[in-house]
Amino acid sequence: MVSMDDLVGYRSENSHDDIQRRQHGRQLDSKKSEKSALIFNLCMMQETDYYNSSPSLSQLPSHTKTRSSVPRRSSFARLFQEDPGVKGCGWFAPYREQRFHILGNVLRVLTFVIFAPFTSIPAGDALGNIVYNLILLGWFDEFVDTPDAVLRHPPEPFTPIPLVGHIDEPLHGGPDISPSTSPDVYEPLSYKPRWMLEVTIRDGQYASRKQINWVADEVGSSHRYTAISYDMGSAYVLFSEAGKHTEDPSPEGKKWSPADRRRISKQLLIEYCSAKRDREVSQNRTEFIWLDEFCLSEDCEWIKVKWNPDEEKQERKEELGRLTGIFRGAHTVVVFCQDLGCDHTVFACQWGKRLFTLGEILHANKVQRMTRTRKTMPGGDAKLTTFLYSESAQSFRERMMHRAAEAGKWHLHALLRHSNNSGSETWQSAIHALMVEAIRRDRETGYRDHELLGQGLNGLLPRRAHVRHLKGNDGWVDLSWLLELNQGFYNMAALAAVCSLNDTSKPENGWLGPPIEPRAGRERLEPLVTAFPVVGVDAKGKTTSHLNIVGADNIGLHPCPRRDDKALYRNPALKRKKIVSTALLTMGWITGFILISRSPSAGLSLIYISSIVYVIFRLVTGTWYLQRSGWVFLSDGKMNDGINGDFAWGSRPELVLGQIDHGLGKLAEWGDQQMIPTWDSPMRVPYMTGHLVDLRMGIKVRVVVTGRPNSMVVLAVHGSGITYMLLNHPSGVGQVAEKLGMANLPPFTLAFTQKGGSIRVGTAAPEKKGSFWSSLWLS
Ligand SMILES: [Zn+2]
Repeated sequence: MVSMDDLVGYRSENSHDDIQRRQHGRQLDSKKSEKSALIFNLCMMQETDYYNSSPSLSQLPSHTKTRSSVPRRSSFARLFQEDPGVKGCGWFAPYREQRFHILGNVLRVLTFVIFAPFTSIPAGDALGNIVYNLILLGWFDEFVDTPDAVLRHPPEPFTPIPLVGHIDEPLHGGPDISPSTSPDVYEPLSYKPRWMLEVTIRDGQYASRKQINWVADEVGSSHRYTAISYDMGSAYVLFSEAGKHTEDPSPEGKKWSPADRRRISKQLLIEYCSAKRDREVSQNRTEFIWLDEFCLSEDCEWIKVKWNPDEEKQERKEELGRLTGIFRGAHTVVVFCQDLGCDHTVFACQWGKRLFTLGEILHANKVQRMTRTRKTMPGGDAKLTTFLYSESAQSFRERMMHRAAEAGKWHLHALLRHSNNSGSETWQSAIHALMVEAIRRDRETGYRDHELLGQGLNGLLPRRAHVRHLKGNDGWVDLSWLLELNQGFYNMAALAAVCSLNDTSKPENGWLGPPIEPRAGRERLEPLVTAFPVVGVDAKGKTTSHLNIVGADNIGLHPCPRRDDKALYRNPALKRKKIVSTALLTMGWITGFILISRSPSAGLSLIYISSIVYVIFRLVTGTWYLQRSGWVFLSDGKMNDGINGDFAWGSRPELVLGQIDHGLGKLAEWGDQQMIPTWDSPMRVPYMTGHLVDLRMGIKVRVVVTGRPNSMVVLAVHGSGITYMLLNHPSGVGQVAEKLGMANLPPFTLAFTQKGGSIRVGTAAPEKKGSFWSSLWLS
């Protein structure tokens, strides 16, 4: 590792312009890496699987530690053939697997030696770099990209969306929406239930039920109602214990048919009516009860004639979107699970694990715990009896909060505290907790595609969506709509910072993945950018939304380390050699010029020979070190993505780096000691483990990626480091970057970022073929 003194000395040699230039250089290299896949066939690569056979991305994940090694080679050998996995200094074919690699190196060395008096002065390199940077205009393209605001296009049925700013469209063409009309997006009213059960109880037992229209029948305003919150599995236990059986075959993807679900919930209703209460109630009474299976849609048992399953499905979806409002308006929320003696605040309780639990309990006024206990009867027989215990929702939530803290579920804890008003939680942190908790619950209960996420959350956020805008077809679309409605309260960069890689092979949302939960040492989460969804187009040409990261700081990632042919001038380890060799060269030249007046041939020969010696020394030192210019991604195994320099670096890349660079035998690790956040590896898509290595500072960070990243973008201060999203960031107008991984890096990295306007992250659009000239230039 480079010492701190060296670093200071090294950095002070580099002016700001120099850093900028290297940033540009990095981006060009990033572009090269993408294009090189296109020109793979042109290059006639020889596949040389070098010194080991490590896993590749096309295989499924391997968690074994992989080792890789490269024998140390002499400077002379390296001058003509570069080490594997390193980009060499040859004028063309810089990678050893390329056909004309050795020829390129031979020509370079010969030119340097023949023109020694000129090549010993580094002015030529500087001129080359100026020309190199002049051609980098592509990155300014992002300024002409003008994606539409998501709220401009409410998800009404079949609203055509003019793709203003898309490449193939004229900038101001297409069907125009008058700028003065603001779309109606907010739902100002609290929802009332549409349907309700009027249940008649005789002698403390269920007698009959009738579905009524709560609003139209005008019973509603003067009566209180009870809403029952339960898990279908719990009700099924009651159903089967009563000796009943389902009657229909299971529909595709579901456990029970709608009719069976009604039969099962009816058993719960019977149990509720006959439960023993801690307060006196009349044995003969009428109660208004909201029970989802009966109240989500109009009672179809009565009107079988015009029953349409599709219509009913749509009606149920819409009513689910009102769920939070329905439970909020209920006089009492009854909570039920089948476990004996369960008070429903323990973590094992099945009721508490559901997504909808959040919406059902967070705004409840009064709670009745419905709990079963085994009671020994006088005859010695044990009998299951159900009790209803009343308490204020606040005290119930206090107990849940206590249990959440015990289990380290800090997001749930924050949510409950927020709803109890017992802490000054900001909306940013409350919404963040809600999002992470909801997505986690949704996954754990098997809804990996999050179809119902929008419905489960609507009403819990400060701005409510119209029920018709939450379509329940694609959870991501609903979620991004809801979050954008709440743009005044929540910055999505926080959510982006905690999302792991997407776990489906065809991700609809691109950047959203299973979020990680806060742990000790990783709770600090301060967004450094602003992120929100914008309208975009996905790979199939379908309108979708992308995450737009505004004010994004980027760090380019080299596809592989590069040999530093100017090490003599700029590597701090060669400082003494630089002074001595330059002094000798200067002395040779001065003596040569003095000699010219007496014997021109002897003088010129001295100048020429001293230049050759100096140039050879420079070339040899140019094989000792790698360029210390920022971050590079080194994969554990071969990625097999057709990119030059694809190499298996093993799980300890410093061992290989030590062989191909004199100073990189050790790397400091940024990881467990800093308690950095770790994102889950995807379960259903292939991934590759590897390291991000900062060759400048000698630091490595372990990462999991689903492809070779070429850039990373700052998201947030997270724990004791900075969280970045690893991207495949193509250049060009309207190009969407693809999320390939997440990384937490040391805070000093913020000093080396390059400011960008905005970056859009989503599913990658279909790849466009590069033009002949671009592939020629980038080869
Ligand atoms: Zn329970």
